[in-house]
Amino acid sequence: MKKHNFSAGPCILPQEVLQKASEALLNFNDSGLSLIEISHRSKDFVEVMDTAQSLALELLDLKGKGYKALFLQGGASMQFLMTAYNLLENKAGYLNTGTWSDKAIKEAKLFGEVVEVRSSKDKKFNYIPKNYMVPADLDYFHLTSNNTIFGTQIKEFPKTKIPMVCDMSSDIFSRKLDFSQFDLIYAGAQKNMGPAGATLVVVKEDILGKVTRQIPSMLDYKVHISKESMFNTPPVFAVYTSMLTLQWLKNLGGIEAIEEINNKKAQLLYSEIDLNPLFKGYAEKADRSNMNATFNLTDEKLKGSFDAMCKEAGINGINGHRSVGGYRASMYNALSLDSVGALVDVMSDLERNA
Ligand code: PLP
Repeated sequence: MKKHNFSAGPCILPQEVLQKASEALLNFNDSGLSLIEISHRSKDFVEVMDTAQSLALELLDLKGKGYKALFLQGGASMQFLMTAYNLLENKAGYLNTGTWSDKAIKEAKLFGEVVEVRSSKDKKFNYIPKNYMVPADLDYFHLTSNNTIFGTQIKEFPKTKIPMVCDMSSDIFSRKLDFSQFDLIYAGAQKNMGPAGATLVVVKEDILGKVTRQIPSMLDYKVHISKESMFNTPPVFAVYTSMLTLQWLKNLGGIEAIEEINNKKAQLLYSEIDLNPLFKGYAEKADRSNMNATFNLTDEKLKGSFDAMCKEAGINGINGHRSVGGYRASMYNALSLDSVGALVDVMSDLERNA
């Protein structure tokens, strides 16, 4: 039976990417060796790293604009501290839109003064704060573009001259934005790119080198840039698979093409949530995420039947995050419109049978 994977991560990837990645595990580029056995300094792997970096910049339309792409380790969680280590001299500002912003704030406080410019904690992070001013005395302003756990997404970013740092772990490459408004973007691979183990960092070089503290080599963006993301052994399988996903996305027509599909998927699910009296959405409508849709049953007594019907239909991974409860359907790039259709069918069957 076809499985519909709505898991929040890791990880959903296109079938053709999984196919090619598994072939490379057995016999990479007809070398008779596995991708994970060959030297990361070999010509073949250096080409993989170059291609992955180049595709990331190309898809984000940041080529030739002073940015470098790196594939680092430690997950997005490592970036919570690495951004502050490299950029925070006096004061940084954070928009607190949920658990991941909270964690980033906690790490940054180890390095300097941190102001929470606005927070949506007052309503359990079910909305995105708006109409705020970014203070003029910040070293940088940090945002989380998509709030994976609570299902909200920033639709409009502030206009500011302060360098903007954005955690795009759960919506990178999913929608068209002017990516040049950000000075540093980071994203764990394990939602829209590849297996866990690599984190994409796209950084504008001219914001670096301004803090006075000494930075350990492994945490220094400048060191990783000078070694073309090969300062130490990179996570070769995660980088290779990310490269395949980026090639898949480019062949599909790039971010514009996937955004159109993502919009259709989100419209289909949210309209069912709004029309079906057995369900209600968690996030405020204007701030709903196109990647992670959070919703609840209006009558908890139906949970047993709904869960059983989902299982029967091959629907996987829609339980809400343990801190929120309810349901969360994650619709990353590789999830098909058909899969969303399958979930919507179950939701309307529940209403019909109730
Ligand atoms: N930021 C966001 C928006 C996330 O969704 C996650 C994980 O889901 C993280 C950061 C943490 O990522 P990692 O587990 O790669 O450290």
